[in-house]
Amino acid sequence: MATNRTFTMLKPDAVEKGHIGAILEKINASGFRIVAMKLTQMTKADAEAFYAIHSERPFFGELVEYMTRGPIVAAILEKENAVEDFRTLIGATNPADAAEGTIRKLYAASIGENAVHGSDSDENAAIEGAFHFSGREMF
Ligand code: ADP
Repeated sequence: MATNRTFTMLKPDAVEKGHIGAILEKINASGFRIVAMKLTQMTKADAEAFYAIHSERPFFGELVEYMTRGPIVAAILEKENAVEDFRTLIGATNPADAAEGTIRKLYAASIGENAVHGSDSDENAAIEGAFHFSGREMF
């Protein structure tokens, strides 16, 4: 299987609750190599652009408010089958439906405040990674 990349954010709730270290430990233990990483905060315009696909959804305003309320950890991760394997590691969008041991099962509070983002395709991983990082910040 080919090595590829995915993009993740440890969302404001995970950072607020002090879960950065524990989540990064799980990511490392699952075999992902960190290609890029930083603590940053999304502006309203950033969040509206990043989640533009959800702009017509009823939860869009709440999502933008949540994602901009504090810092996030943004990172690009590399591994064989990275996109699919990372989605498995984080679990279902709603933590109530997430499998035991997944990051969302362990650290997410609700379907809205669900601790972590993972790209859903190779194409979106590249777009989302480039949204947050320049080429000089990828290793
Ligand atoms: P995922 O992040 O698992 O790919 P989606 O792309 O469907 O999920 O949604 C993006 C984000 O929007 C979710 O991670 C979550 O923070 C938020 N969200 C999704 N569905 C809801 C909902 N029904 N109510 C509130 N927030 C939601």
